[in-house]
Amino acid sequence: GDFPIETDTIVIGAGPGGYVAAIRAAQLGQKVTLVEKGNVGGVCLNVGCIPSKAMISSAHRYQEAQNSEDMGVITEGVKLDFSKVQEFKESVVNKLVGGVDMLLKGNKVDVVKGEAYFAEGNKLKVMDDKQSQTYEFKNAIIATGSRPIEIPGFKFGGRILDSTGALALEEAPKKLIVIGGGYIGTELGSAYANFGTEVTILEGTPDILGGFEKQMTQLVKKNLKSKNATIVTKAMAKSAEETENGVKVTYEAKDETHEIEADYVLVTVGRRPNTDELGLEELGIKMSDRGLIEVDKQSRSSISNIYAIGDIVDGLPLAHKASYEGKVAAEAIAGEKSEVDYIAMPAVCFTEPELATVGYNESQAKDKNIEVVTGKFPFQANGRALGLNKTDGFVKVVARKEDGLVIGAQVAGNGASDIISELGLAVETGMTLEDIALTIHAHPTLGEIPMEAAEVALGRPIHSM
Ligand code: FAD
Repeated sequence: GDFPIETDTIVIGAGPGGYVAAIRAAQLGQKVTLVEKGNVGGVCLNVGCIPSKAMISSAHRYQEAQNSEDMGVITEGVKLDFSKVQEFKESVVNKLVGGVDMLLKGNKVDVVKGEAYFAEGNKLKVMDDKQSQTYEFKNAIIATGSRPIEIPGFKFGGRILDSTGALALEEAPKKLIVIGGGYIGTELGSAYANFGTEVTILEGTPDILGGFEKQMTQLVKKNLKSKNATIVTKAMAKSAEETENGVKVTYEAKDETHEIEADYVLVTVGRRPNTDELGLEELGIKMSDRGLIEVDKQSRSSISNIYAIGDIVDGLPLAHKASYEGKVAAEAIAGEKSEVDYIAMPAVCFTEPELATVGYNESQAKDKNIEVVTGKFPFQANGRALGLNKTDGFVKVVARKEDGLVIGAQVAGNGASDIISELGLAVETGMTLEDIALTIHAHPTLGEIPMEAAEVALGRPIHSM
């Protein structure tokens, strides 16, 4: 028996869900303890969003350095120093992790290193190097995130990589097999294709990047193929066998068994919530079959002073969703009326071109029996996109027919990850097509494309027929 340390709000896990919740709770006057067994920043900052985007941008530079003759730039002997790619990636991660550490200190959040699990009676035990310390809390926020799913026949280790392994390679492989064409597999596959790796993506369903419209995923597939990548859909990966200097993967497609060899195989078939080692069963918290914690609109679990946010609750496993829920949970604990509403939550895929969506697409609107008008405008007809020599893609806005209320948008193209923000704002604040069309957008910018798409939906485009 150690003496319990009392705290108002204890947060478990310092990913984009947990650290944001901790800071908001502290801002609202709570005494906050944040428990983390690894680094602050969680998956997102250390082995997810941030390092993957740094690596993706190195890969783009490498690709562009070799392919800018059209624009009058002739390069010779472009080389890749992969150790520098890793160094750059690490430096970005370290800056951000250091920044989060400082923010937590500045907000007087007590950061505790160790692994946490629940004991009876509003108590949490934290184990660190065989020492255990008990905390007694008024409220707890669980934000323990997720880990990669392992499939039978593909035990992680050696030449079988999870996303963390794929981000930590010392060299760009000559050949890489990616199992699972979701956004993580496709992003990392695209990055390596840009580094010159011969990439094969094996996807079980009929298309990669499920959740994005066909018109969008087609552009990504075209781009990947132009970089020597192979995409096999409706493919079932069966087994992997390490060979002398690589790995052989057996898969089935079109009722036939195939074998391919590569230096590495990356398995990205989804993620599993970290809810199995927290003592939650003993507490009797309600969970789904998949181990997701059931919560209400304030992120509150079936136990009223325990909240859950991020990858361990239902919905898309994305960093901005975790942070958003974290703020709501902290505000709910402080007695505010905050509630989650995901209608304006964007989802982005950092492939080439980038894909982004927010709110409803046309078919989702149809499913909800909403009559819509849409307006689509191509990057090809935008001056800035032409000048950048990046003309693949389009912006599509979806609006309610009766009053032009913007209820969604899809963007495929260079900069889609940023362009989607304006459209998210439109959905969140209840703007109409007129509002977007009437807003003066600087010329020449990619930002004009949503404005043009709104004009198309209104039936009066200037720059298309
Ligand atoms: P996490 O970030 O997983 O953090 C949970 C933390 O809890 C971890 O630090 C863990 O160590 C800690 N923890 C777990 N159990 C315990 C315990 N018992 N005691 C103490 N600490 C514990 N999302 C995007 O929005 N955009 C992207 O571009 C993007 N790219 C990604 C790329 C990759 C390769 C991967 C893998 C993910 C990516 N994601 C992206 C998803 C994103 O990383 C997650 O959605 C996000 O990190 C979830 O945040 P979280 O706070 O729920 O949990």
